[in-house]
Amino acid sequence: MDYKALNYDFPPYRPPNESTSALIRASRGCPWNKCLFCTMYKTLKFKPRPVEEVKEDIDKAAKIYKGARTVFIADSDSLVMKDIEEIIRHIKLRFPDIDRITSYARAKTLMKLGVERLKRIREAGLTRVHVGLESGDKETLEFMQKGATPEEMIAGGNAAREANLELSFYILIGAGGTDRLEEHAVESARVCNEVNPNFIRLRTLVVQRGSLLGEKKNSGYYKPTSPMDKLKEVKMFIENLEVNQCELASDHFTNNIWVDNKVVYRGVYGRLPQEKQDMLDILDHTLDFLSTIEGEILDATILYERGMIHSL
Ligand code: SF4
Repeated sequence: MDYKALNYDFPPYRPPNESTSALIRASRGCPWNKCLFCTMYKTLKFKPRPVEEVKEDIDKAAKIYKGARTVFIADSDSLVMKDIEEIIRHIKLRFPDIDRITSYARAKTLMKLGVERLKRIREAGLTRVHVGLESGDKETLEFMQKGATPEEMIAGGNAAREANLELSFYILIGAGGTDRLEEHAVESARVCNEVNPNFIRLRTLVVQRGSLLGEKKNSGYYKPTSPMDKLKEVKMFIENLEVNQCELASDHFTNNIWVDNKVVYRGVYGRLPQEKQDMLDILDHTLDFLSTIEGEILDATILYERGMIHSL
């Protein structure tokens, strides 16, 4: 499909599980844009798009993604838009068979919008929000300039849940570095336990060229974790989880571990609490296996640094 010919403003980022969704760009950029590890919208000033322009894109998207059952709204925090309900209602009008409408959202935005406004957004048709928790550790969040405390993350997550929105929390493995590995793992689990999100998605931190975190790393303020550390961190995080009816997914290739050129670990997936032990067993088994092998153990960070991975 030639999106350019249709003059369709195509969002640059979406979660992997929205890869087959119709993509609607309601705003451009991120209103916060300060997280140390993030390079997504650094060259862009946040701007809500005019509603009429977005509606035209929805009309075009309905032709491009004929029969789509899922729609994703971008960029990073479009729920801050005062007209977001109108946009969501237009999506429902043009995609009458829709099962799911989702959006990225900052936890602090959810907290500020509050339960009543979120209920109106839910009634308009939004069904799920994807939220970057990254860490439940106060110091790690501060260091990463996430702009929200763990308690604000909890308040935002709970507001979404109370408004009957499905919630997907993203955890950034490695965010605490070696210095705060344990606090990051344990406190991230605590925040998840307080909120009980529907989904927990793991992302492994890769320090990207040009990111502010790269400067911190070069000056020794951020100490990256090894592949084995990362597995231990995931294990500690899952051990401390006490959530119900929650699905955990490692649905991004940055979670993989390689030995030489072969992927030997593709992350853990499972329902919580039912499959908690299965996931821990996989992690134990992988740690045991890796402690005996002679080949070089590689993660996405190492491959990126060696120029073997170019984009994330
Ligand atoms: S991680 Fe999210 S909130 Fe932080 S700068 Fe990037 S898009 Fe904005």
